Amino acid sequence: MEITLTVIFLCLVITMLIRFKKRVKYSYTDDSNNELQFNKEVPTLTSPLVYYGDKLDFHDESIRKVLIKHFPYFTQLLPLDQDKFISRLQKFINTKCFIIHDVKGYREMPILVSASAVQLTFGLQKFLLTHFSVIQIYPQEFIALEPMRVLIGNVSGNTINIAWKQFLEGYRNGFDNNNVGLHEMAHALYYQNFETEEYIDKSFKESFHLFTAFGDKIYLREKQRTIGLYSDYAMKNFQEFWAESIELFFENPGRLNSHYPELYNILCDLLCQDPLRYPYHNYPV
Ligand SMILES: [Zn+2]
Repeated sequence: MEITLTVIFLCLVITMLIRFKKRVKYSYTDDSNNELQFNKEVPTLTSPLVYYGDKLDFHDESIRKVLIKHFPYFTQLLPLDQDKFISRLQKFINTKCFIIHDVKGYREMPILVSASAVQLTFGLQKFLLTHFSVIQIYPQEFIALEPMRVLIGNVSGNTINIAWKQFLEGYRNGFDNNNVGLHEMAHALYYQNFETEEYIDKSFKESFHLFTAFGDKIYLREKQRTIGLYSDYAMKNFQEFWAESIELFFENPGRLNSHYPELYNILCDLLCQDPLRYPYHNYPV
């Protein structure tokens, strides 16, 4: 039995590796002008590609262009908040190293992946997720070790890993409660505040206790399938429940609010954002 399972798993790994060899078509990156400069100056067929954020030097207007095209959260912000978003995005990119596991890197990759972190933390004072200095971007599902498994995103050590294909799908289908970018940034935000000793956001930490206390009741209720708002994966543990609550909060705030208004309000207070009432709310976005 054990041998059969090992053989099946090895077949799965080989299939995944063969798929990695094929070029992935990025529907958002048809424009070859968007290719990151590094590739134009130094033609290379090696992977991964490494970009230091402080060397990328994007103009505000190129960032704005990418966000308007692909990031609905940004387009709904008031002009003043759009400026704040871009300024935060620039600072976030500057502090990260982006490792792209492909033969070409595109401007959208560092900009949009960073944008999902800025979206999540937009109401907070501390938004840099300083513990995480590396962001790795894979074309699609990737294999993680120890234990060996196929993933579309995870947070490990000082690294945030994201599968680009699924990341784009998360923002393309804005209302299906699946957004791997927000999901992994939620894990990272928790990790930053509860597992590291540095750069802790005290008021976030304090408010999170309310989420834990009230969320735990909903977590147990959802486990019994009374409402079924969350996926089976969210029922795996409370961390996944937290990450999926963030996906719901941004992708389907109305539904979350109508089923669990108290949880919705706790998340508004925790993140200092209210997607349902923006810009008519009292949070300092
Ligand atoms: Zn997760």
